[in-house]
Amino acid sequence: MKIRDILNARKVTFSCELFPPKAGADLSEAEKVIHGIAQLKPDFISVTYGAGGSTSKRTVEIASKIQNTYHIPALAHLTCVSSSREEIAQQLQKMKECGIENVLALRGDIPQDCQFPSPGHYRYASELIRDIRKQGDFCIGAACYPDGHVECEHKEEDIEHLKEKVENGCDFLTTQMFFDNNVFFSFLYRIMAKNIRVPVIAGVMPVTNARQIKRSCELSGTALPPRFKAIADKFSDDPRAMKQAGIAYATEQIIDLIANGVNHIHLYTMNRPEIAARIMENLSDILR
Ligand code: FAD
Repeated sequence: MKIRDILNARKVTFSCELFPPKAGADLSEAEKVIHGIAQLKPDFISVTYGAGGSTSKRTVEIASKIQNTYHIPALAHLTCVSSSREEIAQQLQKMKECGIENVLALRGDIPQDCQFPSPGHYRYASELIRDIRKQGDFCIGAACYPDGHVECEHKEEDIEHLKEKVENGCDFLTTQMFFDNNVFFSFLYRIMAKNIRVPVIAGVMPVTNARQIKRSCELSGTALPPRFKAIADKFSDDPRAMKQAGIAYATEQIIDLIANGVNHIHLYTMNRPEIAARIMENLSDILR
């Protein structure tokens, strides 16, 4: 089933993300993760594509498994920065053969020590989206950044580039993690003002390792509000307390989003279904 139809048909949707194991790694751990996430009955499950294509071979394999074994629609991520146009065309062909209808079209982070753009490669996700549109009947998602993408100095320009992705055929957007809902609400106003009207899925990250998240927020330019910083500073040395606080923070964030009319929530589950399960339990009457 196409994700755009799910987003249009359901009042509130809830989806999860998982990342595939590295090439050559045992699949049994991954199978446990898929099973755990599938038990939560999300509306769809997205499967990441390793940076630099490192776990790329596994993305379609895992996405097919989710669809064929658990009958849950899968969203296969696809990045283009480290692949030639021919390699991308092959990946899309493979997706078609495996019945994958939903693709999250991304550029990917630019690898260090690499000439960018490489000759014959895509430069931006918008170019990839235009080609995917020509290559089959896919439902296409793209990434967006409420705090602005780290490479783009001006948020308004970033939104102009986002508009190109939508004009080139993207059906929905999923946000980078954010920890301040007001940043997200203001982003929604700004994209509406630019006439970007596709559904936006809010990406929520339950934080269980505060140090790791502070580092990745620094790298990605995601702002950490004082309330979040206080929690991280207080509990980062106590993993059990941090886990509990992270689950509570994500739960509150989602309740506030839904209360303010945001209908599509995506949980960055980080392959920890037990954390997603606790959040779902907290929301059981809200998501019913
Ligand atoms: P783009 O949309 O191409 O934008 C990249 C930069 O280029 C932005 O600063 C933009 O403003 C600028 N830009 C775009 N068009 C133009 C133009 N015409 N002229 C000038 N500048 C322009 N990474 C992975 O490796 N694997 C994953 O599975 C993965 N999943 C993700 C899922 C989500 C929901 C999100 C939010 C991110 C994900 N990422 C993933 C990270 C993503 O690959 C990086 O953030 C990457 O740096 C940008 O990808 P993009 O598709 O947003 O790029």
